[in-house]
Amino acid sequence: PEPLTPGELLALDRQHVWHPYGPMPGRQEPLLVASASGVRLRLAEPACGVGELIDGMSSWWSAVHGYNHPVLNEAAQAQLGRMSHVMFGGLTHEPAVRLAARLVEITPEGLEHVFLADSGSVSVEVAVKMCLQYWRSAGRPEKRRLMTWRGGYHGDTWQPMAVCDPDGGMHELWSGALPKHVFADEPPALSAGPEAVAAYAAHLRETLAAHAHELAAVIVEPVVQGAGGMRFHDPVFLRVLREACDEHDVLLVFDEIATGFGRTGRLFAAEHAGVTPDVMCLGKALTGGYLTMAATLCTARVADGISRGEVPVLAHGPTFMGNPLAAAVANASIDLLLGQDWRTEVKRIETGLRDGLSEAASLPGVRDVRVFGAIGVVQLDHEADVAAATRAAVRAGVWLRPFRDLLYVMPPYVTDDEDVARVCAAVCAAARVA
Ligand code: PLP
Repeated sequence: PEPLTPGELLALDRQHVWHPYGPMPGRQEPLLVASASGVRLRLAEPACGVGELIDGMSSWWSAVHGYNHPVLNEAAQAQLGRMSHVMFGGLTHEPAVRLAARLVEITPEGLEHVFLADSGSVSVEVAVKMCLQYWRSAGRPEKRRLMTWRGGYHGDTWQPMAVCDPDGGMHELWSGALPKHVFADEPPALSAGPEAVAAYAAHLRETLAAHAHELAAVIVEPVVQGAGGMRFHDPVFLRVLREACDEHDVLLVFDEIATGFGRTGRLFAAEHAGVTPDVMCLGKALTGGYLTMAATLCTARVADGISRGEVPVLAHGPTFMGNPLAAAVANASIDLLLGQDWRTEVKRIETGLRDGLSEAASLPGVRDVRVFGAIGVVQLDHEADVAAATRAAVRAGVWLRPFRDLLYVMPPYVTDDEDVARVCAAVCAAARVA
């Protein structure tokens, strides 16, 4: 086909292409990326006079090794030469088998079975289905509601939407139509004192006990609540949930789609509490951000329970389940991560974010600055002017994606100190105009 100019591409984009949470036809002008390498996105034509941006977002938590990584490229190319895809019904292959075994090995002790889905939202759907079917198989079909805490985000398909915050959350539009689940209050901030922690632990226990008879599971994002508000919580609440779930016969699901693979300073956020959930969802950084793949892991108890039911199968099987290309890259990404001192890199970025973002605390309009692992958040006391904030960051050479009152970053683990400092300077520049 004839090459298209950047202007032509953007005109077609506006006319035909949906973007996340975007109107149609498109009203905002997305930046046209020509290529990406290391931590940098190269634009097809300069924006605000800048042709290259440091990605402060790791493409939404996923590109932990940066872009165009030779090891991941090689894994993808080698697998491409063998097969890019083959149906998973009745067939299997080495990349998927290796990946499942590896995930069992590295996730908290007790998770044994792996469903390889094709996106984070689908892995949450599968998790919910597992839990509901477990109780149905146990002769307790009335246990089909979920409990979560407010302010969460679990994806954009139906069940995940139903456990996002129904009031003011991203899916508020649908709150009347979605399944009605049980919401505990939002957990207190990590900086809250022991009294607030004790009071909230009691609230969690009480809410769970009051609804246990109808609850299939509790689902939460452990320690870091992502897109629902970028909040950090005391890991003790995960232990409280584990104990209460065990006491009241309720399953526990951790959505580690954002937190998994080292982002919080532990390989999985569950490790901050030393807790094994019954079901765990992974995605995003699973393939180092290369390809779309997610996973739902469960314990033998859950899998065996389902297998004992009148319908002993988990009725879910997407076309691209276990995709070999994605699985091969996931295996390479996990090897790459674990083959290096990733803890030191995450700690280094955490220190850089703390240093660099501290300046934002004294800016007018900034309510809070917080850092946890390789995640930095500047919360404003008002809705951000997203366009102005994004432009300011671009001028400073950094890609940010502010939303609501939040300017936040989660850079690739390979971001060097100088670039971490530039990311922080860009966030401060954005905060000044937002
Ligand atoms: N769960 C969490 C915690 C997430 O952060 C996300 C995505 O941002 C999802 C689920 C949904 O994943 P996906 O966008 O791959 O469907």
